[in-house]
Formats: sequence, C-alpha cells, structure tokens
Amino acid sequence: MDITKIIDSLNDAQRQAVTAPSQAMLVLAGAGSGKTRVLVHRIAWQMQVEGVSAQGILAVTFTNKAAREMRGRIEDLLQVPAHTMWIGTFHGIAHRLLRRHAIQAKLPETFQVMDSGDQLRVIKRLLNTLNFDDSKWPPREVQWHINAQKDEGIRARHTVETGDLHQRQMLRVYRAYEELCDRSGLVDFAELLLRAHELLRDNQDVLDFYQQRFRQVHVDEFQDTNTIQYAWLRLLTDGRDNLFVVGDDDQSIYGWRGAKIENIYNFQKHYPNHQVIKLEQNYRSTGTILKAANKIIANNAGRMGKELWTNAGEGDLISLYTAFNEQDEAYFVVERIRAWIKEGGLRSDAAILYRSNAQSRQFEEKLMATGTPYRVYGGLRFFDRAEIKNALAYLRLMSNRNDDASFERVINTPTRGIGAKAIDDIRCIARDQSISLWAAAIVLINQRTMTARATNALIGFLELIKALAKDAEELELYEKVKLVVEKCGLVELYQKEKMDKGEEKIENLEELVNAARLFDFDQDNEENLGELDMFLAHAALESGDSQADDFDDCVQLMTIHSAKGLEFKVVFLVGMEEGLFPSQQSVDDVARLEEERRLCYVGMTRAMQQLYLTYAESRRLYGRESYPRPSRFLREIPAEFIQEVRMRATISRPVTAVKPKSASLQTAGSYKLGQGVSHAKFGEGVVLQLEGSGAQERVQINFKQVGVKWLMLAYANLEVV
Ligand code: ATP
Ligand code: MG
Repeated sequence: MDITKIIDSLNDAQRQAVTAPSQAMLVLAGAGSGKTRVLVHRIAWQMQVEGVSAQGILAVTFTNKAAREMRGRIEDLLQVPAHTMWIGTFHGIAHRLLRRHAIQAKLPETFQVMDSGDQLRVIKRLLNTLNFDDSKWPPREVQWHINAQKDEGIRARHTVETGDLHQRQMLRVYRAYEELCDRSGLVDFAELLLRAHELLRDNQDVLDFYQQRFRQVHVDEFQDTNTIQYAWLRLLTDGRDNLFVVGDDDQSIYGWRGAKIENIYNFQKHYPNHQVIKLEQNYRSTGTILKAANKIIANNAGRMGKELWTNAGEGDLISLYTAFNEQDEAYFVVERIRAWIKEGGLRSDAAILYRSNAQSRQFEEKLMATGTPYRVYGGLRFFDRAEIKNALAYLRLMSNRNDDASFERVINTPTRGIGAKAIDDIRCIARDQSISLWAAAIVLINQRTMTARATNALIGFLELIKALAKDAEELELYEKVKLVVEKCGLVELYQKEKMDKGEEKIENLEELVNAARLFDFDQDNEENLGELDMFLAHAALESGDSQADDFDDCVQLMTIHSAKGLEFKVVFLVGMEEGLFPSQQSVDDVARLEEERRLCYVGMTRAMQQLYLTYAESRRLYGRESYPRPSRFLREIPAEFIQEVRMRATISRPVTAVKPKSASLQTAGSYKLGQGVSHAKFGEGVVLQLEGSGAQERVQINFKQVGVKWLMLAYANLEVV
C-alpha cells in the first residue's frame, strides 16, 4: 500500500487533519490554504488506510463542478473509479435520498424537481387563482418567503397565525403552494433539503441504514450551510462523531439565502469531542494579492481571526483600471485576456468575475467580436432557456402527467387553439377538485361545455402527449428527446421566428438531443431511476456548470458567488463600484455590507498570479445610466499594492482604434488641452488629455467639484466654456 502519495504533498497541519483517527473535526482556515485538498486527501486516506469502502463515503460540496473535481482528484490519488461514492451537492444528495425513498418521503415516485424559474411560475399562477394582487404580493417576494421558511425547516402547519393580516395571507399562500406541489408531485430546491431532512428524521430504519453506511461525512465550504442542511448532517452523524467539516468564516457569502455562519459555533457545541485544525499557509496567491485581501477582510468586525501567509514571492502589483463606461471596461478586459493568450497563457486560466449576472453581456459581446471562446457559468444557463424548458416540459409530462408546471408551460406552446378561457376552466376544476391539470382537462372534456373546436384542440394535446410517451417507450434516451423535438411542433414554431433568434433556438434544441446523447447515465444508479427521469433531474439540478464542455479551453465568466472554491491564474474582478459592488441594497446595512466584503475577499483570493480590478465612471445597467463612485473596497486596499493601468499599455500592437496620445491630440477636433468645458452632471472643468478616435474618443477632465475623470466624448455632451 502506497500512502506516500496521499500525505507527501501536505504540510504538517494538513497532514494532521488528514491522518487523524475518525472523529469530529473542524478545519478552519482562510482562502487557498488547502482545505479542499485536505478533504480530498482525507477521503483517500480513509479508504486506503482505514479500510472504508467507497460506499462508506459521503462528501458534500457546493457546486456540481466542485463535486466533479473532487471525484476526479480522489480517482487520481487512488487510481480507482469513484463513481459509487456519494459525492455531490446538498441538493444532489437530497435528491438521491428522495428518489430512493420516495414512498417514505411521502412523494410520488414520479416526482419532478423544479428549478427556481418553474417555482416562480407556479407561485405566480397560484397567486392568480387566490385572487392576490401581483403588485401587493410580488411573486418573487412570496417565493423568497416560502424558501426562507423551508430553509429553516418550517412548514405551513408549524406556523401559528398571529393577528397580522400580512402574515395570515402569506401563510395562506404557503399552505396552498404546499398543497399544489404535493398534488402535482413537484419538488422545489428548498423542498429537496427539507424533505430529505424529514425523511431521515421520521423514518428510523432509513436513518439507521445511512448512519451505518456512511463511516464518515465530509463537508466542504461548511460556513455556507443553512439550518436545514446542518440539521441533516447532524442526523446522519448523530452519536457517531464522524462529521469532518472544512470552512472559512471569512468566506461566508450565502447569508442572504439562509446560510448560518453560526453553524461553525454550533458544530463546536454539538460535537464536544471535536478537534479544530487551523491552516495558515496559503499556496494559491502571490504575496501581494494575499496581503491586499487580508487588509480588506480586516475591516470586518467579529471575525474568528486568522492571518494567512505565503512562501510565494510578492508577485506583480494589483492592476486597477478606470474605464469610462462599461463598454470600455469590457474592451480593456478582453484586450488583456487576448494579450495573455498571445503570450502563451491558457484561456481557461483567465476568469472574469462579476457581482451580478447582468454584467456578463458586455464581456460576452467583446469576446464574441474577437472570436475568443468563452463560457458563462450560471446566468441564463442552457437548461434555463425557454426553448429547452419547453422541450423538457414535454418530456416531463410524458413521464408524469400530474406535472402541472409542465402542463401549463406547453398546453398551448406552440399554439394549438386552446384559449385562455379553456385554460382558466381547467385551473378552476383542478383547484375545486384538488386534482392535477391533466385530470382536470379530462373532466372538462367530459363536461362537453366547450366548443367542438376547443374540445378537439384539447383532446389533440392530451393525445399528443400520450402518443409521444408510447412511441418513446422503447427508444434510447437521445432518440426520445429527438422524437419530442421533432414531433411537438416547437421547431416549426421557431422557424417562423425572425431569422437569427429562431435559428439559434432550433440549434439549442439540437444541442439538447446532443446533451442527451452524451448524458452519462449510471446504469447501476442506486435509485433505480430510468434514464429519462435521471436526465430530467439532471437538467433541473445542474447549476449550469456542465453545459460547459470541461475540456474546452475557454475564458471563464461567472459571478463571484459561483467562483467560490475555484482558482485561476488571472482574475478580473470587474464593476468595482458603489451600488454594484457593494450592492445598493447592502450599503445601509452593516451585516450585509460585511457579507459583500467577504464576497470581495472571495473574489480576490481566486487569483493565483495576476489580479485586475476595474470600475467604470459611467455605467448603463438594467436600462439606467449611472455615474457611480469607485467601490469602497478599492480604498481599503493600501495604495502600495496597486498600480493604475491605462489602456495603451495593454495593447502591444496598434491593431485597435486607440491611437497613441500624441496622434489623437491633433485630431481631437474642437477640444484642446487646457480648454475649459462644462458637463451637465460634473460641472466645469479643464481638459487634461485626449485619446482614441471616432466612437472610442475619450477625454480626461479635471472637474472643479469632482476631480479628475475620464469621459467618452460621444456621450459626454460637453460644452466649451
Ligand atoms: P478556498 O478557501 O478558496 O476553498 P482551499 O483552502 O480549499 O481554498 P485548496 O483549493 O485546497 O484551498 O488549495 C489551494 C491551492 O493550493 C491548490 O492549488 C492546492 O493544490 C494548493 N495546495 C494546497 N496545499 C498544498 C501543499 N501542501 N503543497 C502544495 N500546494 C498546496
Ligand atoms: Mg476549497
């Protein structure tokens, strides 16, 4: 047995954590200190040395990408396939449990997982049937409320009515929503977690089985577990002291979604025999990046407190770029990435991280324009696109006729003459008789109250689904998907759409067939699920990271949230502006502001070699133009770690529209150095520099009131004074 591979590449503290006898353990350490590495090596150690079988391992991580990576690394270390190990996200593992024990979990075996988009639609419809006014009861708020209750383990029946009208109404919606989901066999993401907890809590035999099966339970990013997640971890390890968690209080970034940093304290209380190990050496980033990140996070109060150090050299200074608007920002970042690639860097080693998904579009456009392959994680992911969801809805309905969300989605998509009135009638019947929409449609047909045309249309729809299900029976998964794509009428629908848009949708549908073909179906899946159901669950659960062909060399785009745990050689942390990052909602709330600061810490510590911070002086986002101030986080980094960079330095050859400064000075038309100008917002100032040409022409002005700013001439509307 060769264990050197497992422990050789570890420092003393890491080795201590990896080789400790089975017991409760908390590895608490800052970013890049090897927590995930410890977890992986710990699993390998247990299998190799402690004789734990692959089935005896449970490991929970936060993203599918992280889970895949973990599996790969264990396989690497042990040279054995790791597919029988339970390594996954909380949602993925909960889903597995529920599939295997649907009956005990009080779910129909054909239950379907709905993602948050589906959930929102269901809630919207529900509010409608309950006659709630959308403007007073924004569906998103209701959704947020319901999920927050579930994250705390609270069902509608647990809530005691107070005299408060709002509370009473919200409870009514929650109750109706629960009923509707139960009736339709629909399970939202929060429900996955809550149901899995109830399953273990209320079925001693199931709990006994898993307690015995899992010799050790491992959790990465423990600081971001919520109440219900921690509750089921506790059930699984109750009285056995075999919970091994790694985390970093400074990287807790999901408080807004119910994560409880307190779980770290609770752990220490609930597992009195636990051991705490701290790791202090960072192996990821240069000295400069690490020190700057340490400085930022030091502004938060109430930290558990740890200081990271590194053996790596100081490395480059952090680059700060001030863009005049969001397009300029994107242009700069993409040019830098191209320079990086030109110098031999891998595209996949470069990441653009942003606070909000909506920021990605500008970067995507510039990357596309320059023919640079890229991949967006999260955001409007493949399985979230309308055309894909439509096709999936057909498949889901074939598999489970009671799936109301899918029924509603495609009953008249493409249009088949089933009017709003008929759909309303179906809803009413479903509500009055507490049956599914599918069953209600049959009732409606039998009532013979509709026109012959409407009746035929509705019968046609039901028959279509039945026929598809029957024809698909003997087919391979991808043939099933292909059959649906060809027969459900979506292709014809999109063919009618204006050129590009429709074409892209059809291509996406083809890509869905492809995704089904490549779908890695685990024949021996312990849940005994059919391939189609597995595929549908996969589509709902995937957080978008597997649309990515992991082997492609692509520039990586994602929110800072989804970059947690990852690392890249070059990181661009963009949109460093007040109101965007920190976000507008957080600036007046200390707790939320501290969470934003932790997010900033997470973002910066993703960088191994080079870190770029950028902000724009004017930004058009969500259709509004704003002139934000630079983010306070920029001020929190000591100046000695930062160098301001300018566009010219980024371009090694004059292939772009930006001309050298001296050249543009002469062509700048009506503006001269030292000239007095006036701007609608910033008031009066003096021109300091001009550069670029045409639409890219920009001007630096020293304003009397707000100081030096770069503006884009085309948008600045300057007046000569
Ligand atoms: P995060 O908090 O961001 O999740 P982490 O603490 O989980 O970070 P890892 O991702 O495990 O850190 O490790 C960071 C990097 O340091 C990885 O590239 C890892 O391979 C490397 N590393 C960790 N420990 C060592 C070590 N002892 N020797 C060499 N490299 C190491
Ligand atoms: Mg990690």
